[in-house]
Amino acid sequence: MSNFIERSVEAAIHELRDSGMSMNAIARRLEICRGTVARYLRNETSVPECACGRPVDHRGTCDARYEASSVRQAVMPKMWAARAASRAAARGEQ
Ligand SMILES: [Zn+2]
Repeated sequence: MSNFIERSVEAAIHELRDSGMSMNAIARRLEICRGTVARYLRNETSVPECACGRPVDHRGTCDARYEASSVRQAVMPKMWAARAASRAAARGEQ
């Protein structure tokens, strides 16, 4: 249940902040450390995003990653060619 508690504390921090309360006052009200309040508030404003619009650590590849990486640009066409060749082989083509 610790995740649930964490989440409700985080929600309370943002609610109190939105109502105009200072970080010190929020820390006193929720009986948590002021640094914890600051950390939760900082997290909200810094959500890193990939250029494709998904989270920056999303799985797999995307156009933005492909464009940004000369390694991907060198390797992936070979991968696609190899896949196409193995599909063709599976169909019995040469
Ligand atoms: Zn992406």
